[in-house]
Order: sequence, then C-alpha cells, then structure tokens
Amino acid sequence: MLRLTGLQKTYPGFALSVTLEVRPGQTLALLGPSGSGKSTLLRLVAGLEVPDSGQVWLDETELTPLPSEARQVGFVFQDYALFPHLSVSENIAFGLREARWDNASIRKRVDELLDLTHLFPHAHKRPEQLSGGERQRVALARALAHRPQVLLLDEPLGALDLKLRQELLLELRAILRQTAVPTIVVTHDQSEAFVIAHQVTLLREGTIVQQGTPEQLFNRPKNRWVATFLGHRNVFTTEQSRQMGLPARPHLLPQEALMLGEGEEARVQERIFKGFTVALELAWRGQRLYLEGPEPGLHPGDTARIRVDWSKVVPLEEEGEKNELRELLGTQTTSIKP
Ligand code: ADP
Ligand code: MG
Repeated sequence: MLRLTGLQKTYPGFALSVTLEVRPGQTLALLGPSGSGKSTLLRLVAGLEVPDSGQVWLDETELTPLPSEARQVGFVFQDYALFPHLSVSENIAFGLREARWDNASIRKRVDELLDLTHLFPHAHKRPEQLSGGERQRVALARALAHRPQVLLLDEPLGALDLKLRQELLLELRAILRQTAVPTIVVTHDQSEAFVIAHQVTLLREGTIVQQGTPEQLFNRPKNRWVATFLGHRNVFTTEQSRQMGLPARPHLLPQEALMLGEGEEARVQERIFKGFTVALELAWRGQRLYLEGPEPGLHPGDTARIRVDWSKVVPLEEEGEKNELRELLGTQTTSIKP
C-alpha cells in the first residue's frame, strides 16, 4: 500500500498538504483544476521534489529519504518524453539496460509489454512514426518495464484529441486492471477520473476537498464547488434554495430528482438538441432548471410539468464552512492573548 502522510510542499503563493492511501491493485485518480498541485504531488511521490514535511510510505518502507532511482516508481509524464532516436522496443528496454538486466530477460520483458500494450506491429518504429495514442502506450510500457512498485501517470491522455482519448481511456483502464501496483492517475477531467479510478481524490489549491469512489463523489458532492466541478447543473445557493422552499443551505437537484410530465407548471426557455439526448432549460419557482433526457417534444415557450422528488435532493455544505470556522477560532485564540 502507498501512503502519503502529512505530505507538504510550499511554493510562493501555493501550499500543498495531503494525506492519502492507495491500496495494491487500486487506481486513484487525482482530480483538480489546473494549478491545484496534482503534478507537484506526483513529483513528491516519485522523489523528483523534496517535501517540506511529511512522509511517503510503501508498505513498511519509508520512501521519503530515498533518491528517485531507488523508489521503484514508474512515471508517465504529460508529454511522454520518449527518446526520439530509439525504436519502440529500445525505448521500453532503456531503463532495463540502465539497470543492467541481462539481454534474455530484457527481450522477454519487452515482448510481454509489447503484448500488453498491443504494440507488436510497431516494435521497430521510432516515436515520430507513431500516432499520439501509440506514443502514449510506449510511455506506459516503458514506465511498467522494470516492474515498479508504484505507477504514476500525469495526464496520460492529455495530449490527445477527444475521440482518441475516449478509446484509449478504456484501453488504459484494462491495462491498469491487469497490473497489481498502486497507481495514481492525474487528470483534470472528471469523466476520465470516473472511468479509470477505484477512488477519486479531488484537489483544490493544494488541499483535498473530498475523496471517495466515483459514485460517492458524484452522488454526494460536499459543496457547490465540488458539484459544479463534477459537472452537475442544478446547483443552488442558500438564497436560491430558500426561494424554492428548501431549507436555508445550498442544494443540488440531481437529474434523478426531476420528473418531467406531471406536477407543477414550468416554462421552457431553451431546448438544446444533443443527438442521443435533448436538454431543456426550464423556469421554475424563480430558478432555472436543467434537464437532459430522451426527446421531450417540448420547445421554447411551451409549458412543461415538473415534479421534484424531494427525497432525492442533496443538501450541500456551505462553501468554506470549515475554513470560516477555523478563521473564527483563530481570531478568538488571538483575542484571548494578552
Ligand atoms: P497542476 O499539476 O495541478 O496543474 P502543479 O502541481 O503543476 O499544478 O502546480 C501547483 C502550483 O505550484 C502552481 O501554482 C505552480 O505555479 C506552482 N509550482 C509548481 N512547481 C513549481 C516550482 N518548481 N517552483 C515554483 N512554483 C511551482
Ligand atoms: Mg500538472
């Protein structure tokens, strides 16, 4: 098991502070906006950066004092960083030669990885002769070559276009499911995190906001920031909730809480045809509600009927509730001082 305990790193205007665990065979997605500290966290685990405090543990071994080479970590960087003058096979074998594996073992291991990543037909090509997706798989094969104890992937699909990302995502998921090492995958895309990970850790400004399975995170987001970041639409402030007759705190009205075709009247304001689904924006109780589903046969100006299943409405924490409390306590402590 990989464990990060009180791991901290400060840069001017930025502070990372995390505690988390990844079990063997599990993939943790580290999700967060640009600049939230995802790459910094990976570099600390890989030993490419020294923490200000805290530790990195692999089972009973503390990795923190070890140099990067001694950590047995496989790392795929955002830009893959393949050797341009080496073939696919040679790229995969590079680290093994450095580690002085014998030729027969190298050949056997490279063949296993070419097989795992479906790269046999490309074994003798150089990186410039490969597609983006193939390069990505070479980088992954190279990271796995020396049988690392931990696998770290920094935006592994970041450089690819959308369609290819979706294809490769499932392939990457399949490959990761076959490797028994704890893996951290960095992404800023919530749907990617959901597809690939057993656990998702949501990072904001260097701090973990929420962790859980994809289902836990999506179905029970903690606050409006999390809900919105995960792609929810009907996320309301305390004031808006009050206007709708809900208790005085922020709320999420998830899609499954909204039933079209019966109940209160609502005015259709916008209709967005999306192919498999149609989205509607409705004016309801003074708010704008977003609904997406099968063709509803409704157009702007029509009157729709909507019923809300209040048992499925998700109450949210006031944003920064804890921070405000901490600040309040902080001020009290200081004011008690003579
Ligand atoms: P992410 O990968 O989530 O986009 P990073 O971990 O790259 O975020 O960066 C987090 C913050 O730390 C950013 O504000 C970035 O500018 C800062 N940062 C990262 N590396 C350094 C460095 N070597 N020196 C100073 N600041 C850095
Ligand atoms: Mg990054």
